[in-house]
Amino acid sequence: MLAYADIIVDISHEKLDRPFQYRIPEQLLDKLETGMCVAIPFGAGNKLIQGYVVGIGTECKFDPDRIKDIAGIVKNGVGMEHNSIALAAWIRRNYGSTMIQALKTVVPAKQSVKKLEHRTIVRNMTAEEITSLLGEALRKKQVAKARLLQELSAQESIPYEWITGKLGVSAQAVRGLEKTGVIKIVSTTSFRNPVHLENHAEKRKQLSPGQQEIADTVMKEYQEGHPGTYLIHGITGSGKTEVYMDIIERMVALGKQAIVLIPEIALTYQTLLRFYRRFGDRVSVMNSTLSPGEKYDQCERAKNGEIDVIIGPRSALFTPFPNLGVIVMDEEHEGSYKSESTPKYHARETAMEIARLSGASLVLGSATPSLEAYFRAQNGEYRLFTLTERLTGGRLPEVSVVDLRQELKEGNRSIFSRKLQSLLADRLDKGEQSILFLNRRGYAGFISCRACGEVMKCPHCDVSLSEHRDGRLRCHYCNYSEPKPVNCPKCGSKYISGFRAGTQQIEEKVKELFPGVRTLRMDGDTTKTKESYEQILSAFSNGEADVLIGTQMIVKGHDFPNVTLVGVLAADLSLGANDYRCAERTFQLLTQAVGRAGRGEKPGEAVIQTYQPEHYAVVHAAAQDFVGFYNEEILYREMAEYPPASHMLAVQIFAKNEQAGAGLADTLAGLVKQTPLLSAAGKKRPEVVLLGPSAATIGKINDIFRFVFYLKCAKYDKLVSIKDMLEEKIQGMQLKSELVQFDFDPMNTM
Ligand code: ADP
Ligand code: ZN
Ligand code: ZN
Repeated sequence: MLAYADIIVDISHEKLDRPFQYRIPEQLLDKLETGMCVAIPFGAGNKLIQGYVVGIGTECKFDPDRIKDIAGIVKNGVGMEHNSIALAAWIRRNYGSTMIQALKTVVPAKQSVKKLEHRTIVRNMTAEEITSLLGEALRKKQVAKARLLQELSAQESIPYEWITGKLGVSAQAVRGLEKTGVIKIVSTTSFRNPVHLENHAEKRKQLSPGQQEIADTVMKEYQEGHPGTYLIHGITGSGKTEVYMDIIERMVALGKQAIVLIPEIALTYQTLLRFYRRFGDRVSVMNSTLSPGEKYDQCERAKNGEIDVIIGPRSALFTPFPNLGVIVMDEEHEGSYKSESTPKYHARETAMEIARLSGASLVLGSATPSLEAYFRAQNGEYRLFTLTERLTGGRLPEVSVVDLRQELKEGNRSIFSRKLQSLLADRLDKGEQSILFLNRRGYAGFISCRACGEVMKCPHCDVSLSEHRDGRLRCHYCNYSEPKPVNCPKCGSKYISGFRAGTQQIEEKVKELFPGVRTLRMDGDTTKTKESYEQILSAFSNGEADVLIGTQMIVKGHDFPNVTLVGVLAADLSLGANDYRCAERTFQLLTQAVGRAGRGEKPGEAVIQTYQPEHYAVVHAAAQDFVGFYNEEILYREMAEYPPASHMLAVQIFAKNEQAGAGLADTLAGLVKQTPLLSAAGKKRPEVVLLGPSAATIGKINDIFRFVFYLKCAKYDKLVSIKDMLEEKIQGMQLKSELVQFDFDPMNTM
């Protein structure tokens, strides 16, 4: 009998975004399966290209005389599961992309590559000897070395990357220990068993009644055959991770596997170690530092049942487990769970779909849940659990809000309020650490003319240039730079200067105020690499500085027990962003920042400086009151019809030529206006609201013009149907130098 296969070709082009039918040659008849990667002759020249089999049947839907044969199955090509194809189709439909883009998204490892060498550090002495060396290192205040020895006293071996990365120990120090015979460095050529544990598995904690109830409910509903979605709202240290691990352990006992999503930035050594201690080498990590070969290896291990638990950021969601039992999504409110490239999927929604397809439970957790998740929990779509007690010790800090307008009125023109200055002085006296937080990236101080108001902007990107220490003005998007002008290019005035403080300037001011203070700075400029990020945090936690000054990135990850003061320099900066999530983002940032103080035994204090002390995001963050914030914010979202109360679709247009881009935006918006959803004659108001089109907030990046329009509708499906209609029209337009992307419920304005 003749058989045919539907194949999606591996070329990202809208016109080719449909299955092509091929004949299955005799020798492949009993070998070919849906999901396989195959080689096929394509086009007039019959060039061999790759494709994925998405269906097999006996009916020939094409001219039988012209249909071509599949050339062969691609060895080492990454195949996909039935579920993956269904999932890709779902992603394509719900977020807008070509099928091949969607397929590539759900197959995390793109190709099979030679395995890389891996180094592991193994201790070369007994645990007792290590412990005595540890004591010595502590006495000599060799903090980084002590940290390594500490870990080695607890376990025999540690992956090399963790030592230089997460533990912040220099390669030189490691070599030193090797020379003196304390450790050995062992190379292996596979990524198996990155950690070998001795009988040092972490003791299971006796769950509190609150924790027990969560784990029991999740497991009971799972075993009764209706796995659900659960949201755990609990501050940091309230025992969420312990609950995740308990659920996972019970799933594993049932022969199921688990995916644990953690934002990359929060994927700390301590967290990983807890999972390793509990699950031994049945757990593995997926992160951005893995090579494609390593990722492929991880997927193979997952498929073959060699591991039970995978931990990683967004993309770990697509780990091909045969019997997935639970997906855990920690810090579910994190913006990094949304993909920024097409398909712009959200890991939370996609996790729900994966859970549905594989009959798994989904457990979300956060100290400051997203409005989306909490809204659904309120609507009964998710089941809500709350953990209120902090199990790590430490009290919530005492927070004061300082009105900067009042400071100015009373003659204080410094960027530090008097309150913050005196508390800083007090901490320096006591030898305690402080964090100064600027909720804005990089050295944001833009340059403007005090006489005419002209702002110096990047000629390519339409964003303001920032002044750097070398005296040049620089663009943060495209890296264009120019010398700082002496006179205003518009009016010639010499009164041009920075407008607001950036982290560099704050550091300088701190040093001016407190001569001799040791500072560390952390922002986009000082953390170009992942290692430098870890190094700064490690240096600070080693006590190598008194004050850490930084942007949003300092509020996540590491715990600093010696930090007893957090100062937020201008809470308003993130409130000023022009999108509907800015209050939510501000609340989250402030809550996290404030929560950095007082993690240890000593009580902490926090100061929030602001020009809007009465803003509800500020008020509730100061009180660490999520529910209070939610109740006000959701009213605003409902009134203004923003997600999660409604849904929103951003249609983004990119063009080399400004007029062509504007024209295309108008054309597409015009098409939308003609649909019955908008032109609802006779009805009171149309179901879909159109905003724009307009030039994007940043109208030009790297000489590409950007336009955008937004559609709002209570029903997601209606927006999907508009997207489908637009996709079809766009296909017919044969665009050459314009590109259109879709972003559902966008996290950022464009
Ligand atoms: P979260 O994930 O909410 O930040 P964790 O699960 O990390 O909280 O718990 C915080 C701390 O409390 C950890 O050190 C953990 O070992 C400890 N802990 C958690 N649950 C318990 C428990 N039931 N009994 C004792 N200690 C616990
Ligand atoms: Zn001027
Ligand atoms: Zn630029």
